[in-house]
Amino acid sequence: MTKIHPIRLTIAHAYVVVGERPILIDTGWPNEEATILAALRAAGFGPRDLSLILLTHGHSDHAGSAAELRQLSQAPVALHEADHDMVRRGRNEHLQPTGLLGWLFSPIANGPFPTFEPDLQLEPGDRLDKFGIAGEILHTPGHTPGSVSLLLDSGEVFAGDLLMGGYLGGYLFPGTPQLPWYADDLQVVYDSIEKLLARGATLFYLGHGGPVTAGAIEKWLTRVRPARR
Ligand SMILES: [Zn+2]
Ligand SMILES: [Zn+2]
Repeated sequence: MTKIHPIRLTIAHAYVVVGERPILIDTGWPNEEATILAALRAAGFGPRDLSLILLTHGHSDHAGSAAELRQLSQAPVALHEADHDMVRRGRNEHLQPTGLLGWLFSPIANGPFPTFEPDLQLEPGDRLDKFGIAGEILHTPGHTPGSVSLLLDSGEVFAGDLLMGGYLGGYLFPGTPQLPWYADDLQVVYDSIEKLLARGATLFYLGHGGPVTAGAIEKWLTRVRPARR
C-alpha cells in the first residue's frame, strides 16, 4: 500500500509518497528544506532514505529547494526536459496569468531560486517501480510545457499545478476545482486534465489546495471548458 504524506509549505504542497521506498514530490520555494525534512522524519525516514525527488514542473514554488534537498539526500532529481531550462536559469518563464490573482501575484511568483542540473529526464510512460513506487509518469502540459503527473496504480494522481483546489491558493474550500493562476496554454490544460480522467485517475493531489475528486473535476469541466469546435 502506498502512503501519502502531504506537506503544507509557504504557498505550495510537497508530498512524501511511500511505497517500498519513499520519494518526494516537489520541494516548495527556496529555503523550505527544513520543513520538508521534518515531515520526512515524521513519516519515519531520514534524508538518505529518499530514492527520488520528482518535480511536477520547474516553477520556483516547486523546484525552489530541489538543489539543497539533492545535496542533503543524494537522491536524483527528475524533471521533464521541457522545463529543464527553467531550473538551469533559476527563473520561471512566460508566466501567463489566467485571472486577476495570478496577475497580482506575478512579482512574487517570479522570484529567482537556486539553479541546478536535473539528474533524470522524465519520459511519459516511465514507471517508478525501481524507486519503490507503483505508478506511471504522464506528460500533462498546459501549465508549463514540461508539467508531468504521477498516476499511482491505486488511482491517486499528483498533478502539480494542472489545476488548483479552492480559493486563495487552496486555503478556502480546497476540494473545489479551479484553474491554475498561470497557464502556458489553457486549451492544453483542459486536454491534460481529460487525459488523466481517461486514464482512470480518481483523486487529484495538487500543488495548491486539493485533494480534488475526479467527480468534482468532471462536473467543473463541463461548466468551464469551452465547447469544442
Ligand atoms: Zn506552477
Ligand atoms: Zn505552484
